[in-house]
Amino acid sequence: MKKQIFKIYKKAYKSLEKITPLYFDCGQLCSNKCCKQGSEGMYLFPYESEYLYGKTNSQIIHTNNGFDLLLCKGECERSTRPLACRIFPMFPYLDEKGNLEVKFDLRAKSICPLQYTDIPEITIEKKFIRRIQRVFKSLTKYSLFYDYCRKLTDEINFLKKFY
Ligand code: SF4
Ligand code: SF4
Repeated sequence: MKKQIFKIYKKAYKSLEKITPLYFDCGQLCSNKCCKQGSEGMYLFPYESEYLYGKTNSQIIHTNNGFDLLLCKGECERSTRPLACRIFPMFPYLDEKGNLEVKFDLRAKSICPLQYTDIPEITIEKKFIRRIQRVFKSLTKYSLFYDYCRKLTDEINFLKKFY
């Protein structure tokens, strides 16, 4: 099973290797805030910590609520970025009927300027959103990823109350 999951990660990483949210480096807008604040940790997807084992220098911890967190030092090899970094600041929201929609990740609200959709210069590239949609349509065919995206969708939606 793990072999199959690792294959899935390899493919997903490749699809999300070069694509970026904007047509230029969005780190210029905020001095790479999401990486600088990476010490708070990026959530890893199921078995991703094992897939990354030996590939990353970042620390990986297991949290009490059952998630794995990658704690980086604000810099990394691009090829070893976890999925959460590759899709940031978006998230594939999965509702209880199984509908998938890629939208701004509310957890990024306190740091990421890409939430301001009324500024044309920083409109998130449609192809970035489409690529995430495609990758996660495929990933959520597996119950492991389906359940994980459902769980995080509920957690993120819960945050709406505070915004
Ligand atoms: S915080 Fe947002 S704008 Fe800044 S580098 Fe990260 S994704 Fe780009
Ligand atoms: S792992 Fe890399 S891309 Fe992700 S937050 Fe850390 S430095 Fe940024």
